[in-house]
Amino acid sequence: IIGRVWSYREVTAERHAEAERERLLGEAQEAIRVRDDFLSIAAHELKTPLTPLKLHLQRMRQEGATGGVSHARHVDKSLMQVARLTGLVNDLLDTSRIQAGRLTLKHGPIQLQELAGEVASELRLSSAHHAVELDASSEPLMVLGDGDRLAQVLVNLMENAIKYSPSGGTVRVRVLRDDGHVRVSVQDEGIGIPQDQQAHLFERFFRASNAPISGFGGLGLGLYICRDIVERHGGRLWVESELGQGATFHFTVPLAR
Ligand code: ADP
Repeated sequence: IIGRVWSYREVTAERHAEAERERLLGEAQEAIRVRDDFLSIAAHELKTPLTPLKLHLQRMRQEGATGGVSHARHVDKSLMQVARLTGLVNDLLDTSRIQAGRLTLKHGPIQLQELAGEVASELRLSSAHHAVELDASSEPLMVLGDGDRLAQVLVNLMENAIKYSPSGGTVRVRVLRDDGHVRVSVQDEGIGIPQDQQAHLFERFFRASNAPISGFGGLGLGLYICRDIVERHGGRLWVESELGQGATFHFTVPLAR
């Protein structure tokens, strides 16, 4: 009987070891697949702005020879593509800084409604096809933190609201006091986010299945970076949305005492 118990134990241990080996192998294969997907998406996204950039530079060279008049337009379009490339590279750099625990934040007093006002004004200038409305509390709402990084969060949320909405849509930005916090909400009238994917939205590289129909690419890093920045200010970032009914992103930052 003792012999049978021992061999039973050995078989069970062997089965557990086998299952563990398979689990680890599955995890390793999944990690390789994610890495390969990422490489191909990143390469595609980085290459996309290069085609129009090359085209505009070629036109400028031709016009230089023939004395054409649309020089300034080609310069503007080239600068737009350079800005797009810079944004992608910055997101990749920020992501690797977060992963390595090297994203450092400055610490100073910031008026969030002023900052939101500046970002909204800049976006109004660059996006002719959307209205950006700002509804900000009249009392000064001061927080402590990194103004550049909080501006980055505001830009990201407002740019997404525009990017994932049809032309003619309105983006509403609210900056209000919420208990001991300032709450910023960015609401759009766009494509929305499927319910079952909302929990994954803030993960690295995640893009919802309906994002490609917006016709815009992306690396799925912006919201991951935004959540890290907001949480390191002691706040929260979350979304409310229904598919096809627009989305509202909210974030909070504690009020300075
Ligand atoms: P990217 O826009 O580059 O894909 P983000 O991290 O900013 O990366 O966003 C992740 C995903 O969240 C997007 O791919 C999209 O599916 C979804 N998303 C973000 N903002 C919105 C929005 N305002 N409306 C609908 N979907 C959105």
